[in-house]
Amino acid sequence: MHMQTMRSCLADSERQGPVMLPEMQTVHMGQRQEGGGKMMKYQKMVAGALNLADLANILNTIRDELDDITIDQVVDVCNLPVYGGNDPKNTTEVWSWDAENILVDNNGQNKWGLMKRCPICGEAPFHCKH
Ligand SMILES: [Zn+2]
Repeated sequence: MHMQTMRSCLADSERQGPVMLPEMQTVHMGQRQEGGGKMMKYQKMVAGALNLADLANILNTIRDELDDITIDQVVDVCNLPVYGGNDPKNTTEVWSWDAENILVDNNGQNKWGLMKRCPICGEAPFHCKH
């Protein structure tokens, strides 16, 4: 089972450590000035997500509202909140997680959704080796 495209924010080694540092979230998002107001609104929505399923719903809502810009321009998808559980070792195409699920961006359907983590190794099913 594989995603259609390969995307990754950072090498896994860079993904460790504190996840949410507010002053670091906006670093690369200033390119599009017209996205500024929306960015604040959508970042707040993301920060207010109650759990992983809620986060997926919020991201889908945001994507549905956007027309001329992509979600990457209004939400720092590389610094989404996480909801417990151990960090997966391989976070390629894994955008957030909780103890049992990971958040994936299903490009084929243009929808964010959840997938079960492997109960043995905790990795994404498409990264699991057994
Ligand atoms: Zn596994």
